[in-house]
Amino acid sequence: MKVFVTHGLPGEYLELLAKKHEVEVWPERDISRADLLEKVKGVDAILSLLTEKMDRELMDAAGSNLKVISNYAVGFDNVDVPEATRRGIVVTNTPGVLTEAVGEHVMALMLSVVRRVAEGDRFIRAGKFKGWEPDTLVGSTVRGKTLGILGLGRIGKWTASLGCGLGMKTIYHSRSQDKGFEISCGVEYKARIEDVLQEADVLSINVPLTKETKGMIAAEQLAMMKKTAVLINTARGPVVDEADLIKALKDGVIAGAGLDVFDDETAVNPEFFEMENVVLTPHIASATVEARMFMAEMAVGNIEKVLDGEKPEALVNEEVWDRVKV
Ligand code: NAP
Repeated sequence: MKVFVTHGLPGEYLELLAKKHEVEVWPERDISRADLLEKVKGVDAILSLLTEKMDRELMDAAGSNLKVISNYAVGFDNVDVPEATRRGIVVTNTPGVLTEAVGEHVMALMLSVVRRVAEGDRFIRAGKFKGWEPDTLVGSTVRGKTLGILGLGRIGKWTASLGCGLGMKTIYHSRSQDKGFEISCGVEYKARIEDVLQEADVLSINVPLTKETKGMIAAEQLAMMKKTAVLINTARGPVVDEADLIKALKDGVIAGAGLDVFDDETAVNPEFFEMENVVLTPHIASATVEARMFMAEMAVGNIEKVLDGEKPEALVNEEVWDRVKV
């Protein structure tokens, strides 16, 4: 069967898949929309990146052979899942294998902001460091501070555990409560998001991007936060209203931010570049050798399973499975 892969992957997984199927891997860094629409014609499977829209137009271009869209990410906001489900196309993702990597990145951003690590790096490179002084770049200790988690899923839980390890009091808001996790880690559930916003010294956003979560943190929510609070977003840019965040950072509504994701990731808003209290990373929260290898294995494995008529490990649209004919 025909498989189109939009980007090369680490490991030997694609070579192994090519022993059983006709696999074409896009050889360049990025694929244009026009090339993507052309290349997917008649394929049985697509292995996609989170930057590529898997929408109705794409599914039309692929045609009726398309059986599976395997997204090389845990987030699948780039895929029109209801449309895929309507057409009987299986959608898969890569949950669980990047959880630790992302949790570690939340901590890296948090500590970079509150301990002024990136600022310190810039300070030395600018030739400003002339020896130890008691008042150079004084930050805050996180021990005893409150970590607020928005979205206690896989990454939210790992982040909460890491926060506990640093001696932080951890609170969370999610649509559902996980009492078992609370017992094991000593975290506290807040039924109202407002309580997390008001109490958190560090707010970590770990919800997926959905219709409900888009713009979930805007001016009104930022205004509820402490003036000393720091916001960390490793989820998806549009969960936070970026214009409102920029205004809040400029006006001192909150103290700082650590951002791995943005509204437009091909052109990050340059207003952030001038802000000393913001640490920016280029959507690399899952970028560890280990996580990317596991993601490749899982994304390829998902395709292999579906084309073999077996249920894949990470099925997004469970309801489609009974209707699938391979
Ligand atoms: P997950 O296990 O599905 O966790 C997401 C949690 O968010 C769920 O437990 C859910 O809680 C909660 N949630 C969903 N909608 C909500 C709402 N409206 N209000 C409050 N809570 C809500 O997913 P994950 O593996 O932790 O990944 C989370 C997200 O991180 C992904 O979707 C992706 O966008 C992002 N991510 C980013 C990177 C990166 O490189 N920056 C890497 C990996 C993942 P309930 O079950 O209670 O509904």
